[in-house]
Amino acid sequence: MDLDLSPAVTAFRDEVRAWLAAHVPEGLPSMDTASGFAAHREWERTLADARLAVVSWPAEYTGRDASLLEWVLFEEEYYAAGAPGRVSQNGIFLLAPTLFAHGTQEQRDRLLPRMARADDVWAQAWSEPEAGSDLAALRSRAVRTDGGWLLSGQKTWSSRASFADRGFGLFRTNPEAARHKGLTYFLFDLRAEGVTVRPIDQLDGEPGFAEIFLDNVFVPDCDVLGAVDDGWRVAMSTASNERGLSLRSPGRFLAAADRLVDLWVSRGDLSSRDRVVDAWIGAQAYRLHTFGTVSRLAEGGELGAESSVTKLFWSELDVALHETALDLLGADGELAGPWQDGYLFSLAGPIYAGTNEIQRNVVAERLLGLPR
Ligand SMILES: Cc1cc2nc3c(=O)[nH]c(=O)nc-3n(C[C@H](O)[C@H](O)[C@H](O)COP(=O)(O)OP(=O)(O)OC[C@H]3O[C@@H](n4cnc5c(N)ncnc54)[C@H](O)[C@@H]3O)c2cc1C
Repeated sequence: MDLDLSPAVTAFRDEVRAWLAAHVPEGLPSMDTASGFAAHREWERTLADARLAVVSWPAEYTGRDASLLEWVLFEEEYYAAGAPGRVSQNGIFLLAPTLFAHGTQEQRDRLLPRMARADDVWAQAWSEPEAGSDLAALRSRAVRTDGGWLLSGQKTWSSRASFADRGFGLFRTNPEAARHKGLTYFLFDLRAEGVTVRPIDQLDGEPGFAEIFLDNVFVPDCDVLGAVDDGWRVAMSTASNERGLSLRSPGRFLAAADRLVDLWVSRGDLSSRDRVVDAWIGAQAYRLHTFGTVSRLAEGGELGAESSVTKLFWSELDVALHETALDLLGADGELAGPWQDGYLFSLAGPIYAGTNEIQRNVVAERLLGLPR
């Protein structure tokens, strides 16, 4: 890949940088609280008004038709400017690529503009009490009815479902079929009759997760994503995006690495120099790796099992960056603040988007060809 940026790409990056410098809000409250969630929703509408909420989407859906390279650069500028994590991330980074790949025109027209403006914030409703790593063990089901389906079951660990508007998840539509078959991907309203959302407190005490209970919740046919009984294939397209590209772009880690270097300089602690350098190089390596992924996709390649390698890398990098910062801070690291918050969240990286133990199994079996 040619890493010299064209004048058009440089102009886009400069525009983004200037806009963010003028608009990024000062320290929004956590999006895992009701007031923080509302404040983040407002920020995402500001982004959408500037047509910067979903730059890689087509212009008809308030995007910029930006290339994946431009999207990566946008993300770098976004985090370098100190802008907050995206409350709509499950929708724009996980569901939207799946809608572009598997949705109908009607679904795209109806759902994407509302997603881009955070009018609908989406929750991922995949995990169940007995189906986390082994997602195909899920028991929630959907039964055919007039004009649609009735969904029943229990989902858990659904990020921001406490405050979100809609959910996407897999339900068993053919109990006779093999485990991975007979599943269908549904979109549903979290405020529909029959839905109960019960918040769960996270490590930091905020209700960032929720359990979702569904009791004969009606979903019309137009909210089936992909073909009936073909949900596993559709879900794997979501999972590859989550692990391999869209959910965690390098910008977030580059910004953290730069802050870590500043912290190290301010502390003047020579003994931790090598760890700081390693973490900084890790962020740069992830950036170059992502450019490689973007090139591969631009040339018609696909995100496949390689996504597991990417996920292992970014999740471990995040922990290393934050552990190094806390060690540098010493006793001050015990105090509440951005490094402490970031550290607590980094601990979840090896779990969400598929645990790292499972990703190692995927790498061993599917990429290295080792026996089970
Ligand atoms: C911050 C955070 C946000 C999340 N957000 C969402 C969300 O929005 N929506 C959603 O649906 N889910 C979400 N999850 C849930 C997450 O996807 C699950 O926690 C994850 O899939 C693991 O499932 P589990 O918790 O049931 O653990 P289990 O599957 O029970 O695993 C327990 C342990 O056993 C290991 N293990 C299991 N099977 C194997 C095996 N075959 N080989 C080796 N080791 C194995 C696992 O790696 C893990 O260490 C989130 C989780 C976190 C931490």
